Amino acid sequence: MVLDDLGTSLRSSLDTLQGKARLDEDDVEEIVKEIQRSLLSADVDVSLVMELSDSIKTRAVEEEPPGGTTARDHVLKIVYEEMVALVGDSTELPLESQTILLAGLQGSGKTTSAAKMAWWFSKKGLRPAVIQTDTFRPGAYDQAKQMCERAEVEFYGDPDADDPVAIAREGMAATADADIHIVDTAGRHALEDDLIAEIEEIERVVDPDRSLLVLDAAIGQGAKEQARQFETSIGIDGVVITKLDGTAKGGGALTAVNETDSSIAFLGTGETVQDVERFEPSGFISRLLGMGDLKQLSERVERAMAEAQEADEDWDPEQLLEGNFTLKDMQKQMDAMNRMGPLDQVMDMIPGLGGGMMDQLPDDAMDVTQDRMRKFERIMDSMTDEELENPKVVGQSRTERIARGSGTDVETVRQLLEQHSMMERTINQFQGMGEGDMQRMMKKMGG
Ligand code: GDP
Repeated sequence: MVLDDLGTSLRSSLDTLQGKARLDEDDVEEIVKEIQRSLLSADVDVSLVMELSDSIKTRAVEEEPPGGTTARDHVLKIVYEEMVALVGDSTELPLESQTILLAGLQGSGKTTSAAKMAWWFSKKGLRPAVIQTDTFRPGAYDQAKQMCERAEVEFYGDPDADDPVAIAREGMAATADADIHIVDTAGRHALEDDLIAEIEEIERVVDPDRSLLVLDAAIGQGAKEQARQFETSIGIDGVVITKLDGTAKGGGALTAVNETDSSIAFLGTGETVQDVERFEPSGFISRLLGMGDLKQLSERVERAMAEAQEADEDWDPEQLLEGNFTLKDMQKQMDAMNRMGPLDQVMDMIPGLGGGMMDQLPDDAMDVTQDRMRKFERIMDSMTDEELENPKVVGQSRTERIARGSGTDVETVRQLLEQHSMMERTINQFQGMGEGDMQRMMKKMGG
């Protein structure tokens, strides 16, 4: 995750303030140094870092913490507000017909982002089309076509043509019925004059409402020059930062945003079409600082639940509280979990669990959990309908058969059955609860 290091080191220096009611200048100095160190190592431009740390310092020393606020919360709030101001608002993208042009160097993630953004718009009820004009990179056509198929969005490209401008023109005409046109362009290893001339020509032909610069999060200070050139030639309205799942950097992209006086539109967090997020400054920074991002989380949960239900129309999550909790229900729940994305990303969004807690887990804890879930899935695939509906019939010999059939082992099959009965017991407790009990419990909990 971008600037991951910042979240971690900041949290540990903030923890040293625990219990303090007031800050002295040394405390502030210490925290600001920590912030500077993290930002610089994440490739954020020096002048941006200085600007940010100056305002944090001034505010932390001058502003009185409101009554009842601890020094730690006070600083955290200031850091949060200043960081939100640094990353700026997200690029305005109204949910209406528009043409979006993508620019960037080869390998930055343009083609992937085009399909991801199309998927994102389609989930918002719009009808997107991706137009692939990259005739330079072999394989770009097939890759774009496949990803658009996976995203279930319209695609236009011509593997036999070699004039990107003509493809752009024909593509716009061929997809005239779509609401959103996302035009992918060719990149090069470095900015070359012919690339610039080509993209300027495409820009004239498609007349985009927005031009977005796609940047790999790992890009360093080179981002500045790139951003400046694209800004001069086509004008940049927003930035898409890709590969945030694979780097602790991302500062170069922030520099590009600053350089083009633009904003961040989308974040790419993985290789599949669903691994995209609309940039939300407050949620983004909250997550970074380990405060969780409830909005993203609830969006994911809702989407996952809707998809799981779509995949099996008879399954209604609400009915869990009424009927028996079978292994089939557990299978559906795991399916919904999987649809929410990799577990570590989901955990990062939960306040209190994000950052701080994740840091305490051994590095491979997530992989172990994910690995176990995958085994559970294989086991359930090897079970008969009868066994899924009524796990009690699974005795020793069936356990052995299921372990063999799923390519796992008896121990893991037992673990699955245990986990199921644990969940069943918990759910049964809820079932026994009348409305009065529920209210009493809420009262007890201080609600
Ligand atoms: P283009 O040359 O700019 O069109 O770049 P591509 O879209 O082909 O992406 C280059 C490589 O980066 C491909 O292998 C993609 O799968 C990968 N990629 C793109 N976006 C992401 C992302 O958000 N996360 C990860 N892990 N990989 C990505």
